[in-house]
Amino acid sequence: MLNSLMKHEKLETVSHFAASVSHELRNPLQSVKGFLQLMQEQEYSREKQLEFQGTMLEEIEAADQLINDYLLFAKPVQKQLEVLKAGSEVEQVLKVMKPYAHWGKVEIRLAEFHGTAKILADKQKLHQALINIIRNGIEAMPDGGTLDIAIKERKNDVSIKVNDTGNGMTKEEIQRLGEPYFSTKSKGTGLGMMVTYSIIRQMGGEIQVSSEKGKGTSFTLSFPLVR
Ligand code: ADP
Ligand code: MG
Repeated sequence: MLNSLMKHEKLETVSHFAASVSHELRNPLQSVKGFLQLMQEQEYSREKQLEFQGTMLEEIEAADQLINDYLLFAKPVQKQLEVLKAGSEVEQVLKVMKPYAHWGKVEIRLAEFHGTAKILADKQKLHQALINIIRNGIEAMPDGGTLDIAIKERKNDVSIKVNDTGNGMTKEEIQRLGEPYFSTKSKGTGLGMMVTYSIIRQMGGEIQVSSEKGKGTSFTLSFPLVR
């Protein structure tokens, strides 16, 4: 009974967000379409064209970001959890994030590397959670900096800690973290952390945050250790 209630709620949440995300995707698409139609109708100066193209690129990036933050979470199929090596999953994610880090002048350092510590997780969802956290870390350091990642095998669990030296958050901001559409960024979706909390909980993991305004933030994910 409880289980089916929870499932029902989860489905409702998913379909609610799927609806609002597709609604939000429509805005940038409409905007790009509008500019393309304008440019078909008449000849614009080079300057004007560049301006239109700049706006279209921004709109496409906004749509892309929305898909990145949300898409994997919305996948309806519940995949089986599998035994994974935390270290090699982190390495795979870092490969994906390298261009973005480079673009943001952020150096990613992987320390205390326990390559063999094993956890039970859904590979894609774990990647999504890590990508969302790492991306936020990079975005929190607009002038560049260092992002430190440490993997630790502890007595009963494996932790993955992501530490940035960026903007940090106030107490209120920490409390609102994970609330749908809570974002302090002009182009933010405010969906990344909601998705991250949800998928980490689904996998039986935990997230801890510690942050200080102006100093930086660290997120620690932990999963039961698989022996
Ligand atoms: P978005 O990144 O689109 O704003 P998220 O759900 O990923 O949405 O994050 C929500 C908000 O949480 C961010 O806008 C930011 O204010 C705050 N936040 C998340 N991670 C960090 C971080 N590493 N440093 C500072 N603030 C953060
Ligand atoms: Mg984000």
